[in-house]
Amino acid sequence: MTNMICFNYKSDKDALKDDLNMSNGGTSVFINVLCLSGGRLAETESQKHFMVFLAEKNQNVCGIGTVGFDIVDMPWDKNSFDEDKAFMLRVIEGARQKLGWETLGYEPNEEFVAEYLDTFQKLIERMTAEDIIEESLTEWSSEADENDPTRCGFPKCKIHDAYISIHGCQVCID
Ligand SMILES: [Zn+2]
Repeated sequence: MTNMICFNYKSDKDALKDDLNMSNGGTSVFINVLCLSGGRLAETESQKHFMVFLAEKNQNVCGIGTVGFDIVDMPWDKNSFDEDKAFMLRVIEGARQKLGWETLGYEPNEEFVAEYLDTFQKLIERMTAEDIIEESLTEWSSEADENDPTRCGFPKCKIHDAYISIHGCQVCID
């Protein structure tokens, strides 16, 4: 099994060739490096939402091969769209620059990571304010109970400086 990240899967079938298909192990590494980068770059609440969303993509908790997602289902907010999109592109660039990699207990395969980041960047670049599904943010937020990090001041992992999800630190446990 693999994990797939796609763009507007339901309405844009022609774009399937651009999807990001990753091995299960590759997915864990890919999310690891994004969490490390974003943990060091996020400043606004909306940006932290993106990092918690990614930290939730934990195969050790959710199940192997079940953490793919659609770009339009990320917690995009109309009020800060341009800022958030630019932030996500900075997170990708930060991952290329190996932000936080010194805290990892292993050496990611740079070739795979670079390939995944390039494809992910293309998908993020395609996102426009018109693609925002209003319910994506409200539904995602409504799933958070009172113990959810998004309601407890966005705590971070002390080892990895990454934002944690309700499952804990994605880098620690996936
Ligand atoms: Zn950690």
